Amino acid sequence: MNANSSSNAAPEGVPRTAEAGQAASHPLRRLAARPAYAAPPQPVIQPLPRHAPAVGGLVPFSTVDWPGQLAAVVFISGCPWRCHYCHNTELQTRAARYDWREVREFLETRKGLLDAVVFSGGEPLSEPRLPAMIRDVKRMGYRVGLHTAGIYPLRLADVLRHLDWVGMDIKADAKGYDDITGRRDSQRPALACLTQLLSTGPDFECRITWHPDWLDEARLLALAVELARRGVRRFAVQTARSGPAAPVARALSTQAQATLRYTFEEFTYR
Ligand code: SF4
Repeated sequence: MNANSSSNAAPEGVPRTAEAGQAASHPLRRLAARPAYAAPPQPVIQPLPRHAPAVGGLVPFSTVDWPGQLAAVVFISGCPWRCHYCHNTELQTRAARYDWREVREFLETRKGLLDAVVFSGGEPLSEPRLPAMIRDVKRMGYRVGLHTAGIYPLRLADVLRHLDWVGMDIKADAKGYDDITGRRDSQRPALACLTQLLSTGPDFECRITWHPDWLDEARLLALAVELARRGVRRFAVQTARSGPAAPVARALSTQAQATLRYTFEEFTYR
């Protein structure tokens, strides 16, 4: 998944006092007030059966993994790519660290408090049981989001009609794709996924993790124009960081930001 994707919007952000502004109805405050029995599941100690879904992590609530939605994020471990900037290297190898049944039970207790569940990774489409997992959370009434790098077009086609939103990574332009992913011909499946999203897909955002050493501004802008020409309406540039909380390595120029704002219906610089 995207190197900068996901962060846990922890209860520390919850206003502590009534005068902090209609805090009682704030969804994060309601979450923070949940009783102890609804605590998020912990990683399992015993090895899970081989057929268990490879749930590698869980963020109980986040406001950033699906813009505008309060979501739980389920991280699937397993990814065939090896992006040199990956922040989730522990999720590159398939391994079940959480029991999906416990995660499901936890999500049951969050009904009415969370808007959505986002499947992230790793690459969530690497999990063969993902369609069933999506059905599980749909049955609970959640909206479903997916973060994908666009590695598995056929698997995406299988689940697309059940998704409400997709965050799709664009790694680079054609020239730079394989240098980022460490895999040959890696742009081809990503473009096939993008075509599906553009023709039949749900609401989606394309995003790129950017550093000028990998893609200079001129190439980034040319890539952006190409994406807009294909029909992409929402685009985000996430500047590369050495870690999720680290400062931005190199900022995008204000001129480039202005051009991107002009190019897309919605542009976000993170
Ligand atoms: S596609 Fe895979 S290797 Fe690349 S950033 Fe995402 S999880 Fe990491």
